[in-house]
Amino acid sequence: MSTAGHGAAVRIEACGKTFADGTRALDPATLDIARGETLVLLGPSGCGKTTMLRIIAGLELPDVGGKVLFDGKDMTSVPIERRNVGMVFQSYALFPNMTVADNIAYGLKIRGVARGERAARVAELVALTNITGLENRRIDQLSGGQRQRVALARAVAIRPGILLLDEPLTALDAALRDRLRSELNRLLRALGITTIYVTHDQAEAMELGDRIVVMRKGAIAQIGTPREVYFAPKDRFVAEFIGAANIVEAPVENGVLILPGGRLPIECGATTANATVMIRPETIRVTEAGEGILSGIVDSVSFIGDRQRLVVSDASSKPLNVDAPNTIQARIGDRIGLSIAPDAVRLLPSEPRD
Ligand code: ATP
Repeated sequence: MSTAGHGAAVRIEACGKTFADGTRALDPATLDIARGETLVLLGPSGCGKTTMLRIIAGLELPDVGGKVLFDGKDMTSVPIERRNVGMVFQSYALFPNMTVADNIAYGLKIRGVARGERAARVAELVALTNITGLENRRIDQLSGGQRQRVALARAVAIRPGILLLDEPLTALDAALRDRLRSELNRLLRALGITTIYVTHDQAEAMELGDRIVVMRKGAIAQIGTPREVYFAPKDRFVAEFIGAANIVEAPVENGVLILPGGRLPIECGATTANATVMIRPETIRVTEAGEGILSGIVDSVSFIGDRQRLVVSDASSKPLNVDAPNTIQARIGDRIGLSIAPDAVRLLPSEPRD
């Protein structure tokens, strides 16, 4: 993909949005989405994710100067029905009185696809979305998870060039959401459709995204692969929004962070007198007291299934979250040692928190 965006399946160019009431929902943003890529728009409520998706869909016009290109073609003023996009929202927007099969076939019918081909396409999608046996049920006779599968099947039935998903799993309970998330992952890979997926759930973003666009207050905070945004967040906001992060501010002397519980060498070349760094809880190892780099006291221990989360005070300027294997015996009040590899300490730009 060139920097000019030639060859990008979708390009938004300087697309900002200020609503009629003066609300600035989106700062002008430029973004290329490659063919077949799943791009996730991730951020807290109100950061402009849906607005960006609606601009791509053609449900919203960008402010003057903004452009939306599909395969290099200017689509900015092309209405949604001529953009060949499939959409799924949090609310399913299915026809409640129609059967599953008729819902899935709906878009094909209005496009004049012949009955035989419609039936074949419905059969294929029913299998792909795991709803075999429900073809003749009405939508109001289905569970939430089943409805969501029908909504997906209907959106992809028309073989859209681009699939737009806005929090499609949010309405479901946690266990079902997890299951559908992996099913959706499989489905998106199988279909190879260029997909833009809006969510505020970082686990969903990590699992589904080839790349994640982290958004904050109408602006793009970082774009990167899940690994990039997780291991190399550009700033404190991204570090804290994606996964658990210890943010530590401390003085630095000759490449060593001076902490209450010890001296922590860092690799990140901090040249300032004070540094803000991020340390992921799972990169901190618990050792015997007196060993390790830092010393601290166990404040709390929480069992979280495949591991335990310790909160350790006295080691840093504020309590550190430490994820340790369940085999580690730690009790509240124990003095323990902590070791942290220098490359697990990530320098962040110092910035005032708001
Ligand atoms: P959520 O996760 O809550 O859906 P979001 O990140 O998708 O949030 P948007 O729906 O894009 O956020 O909204 C961005 C901002 O624009 C919000 O402050 C919202 O209140 C505002 N906004 C959205 N639609 C309109 C509108 N039609 N008129 C005025 N302001 C709007």
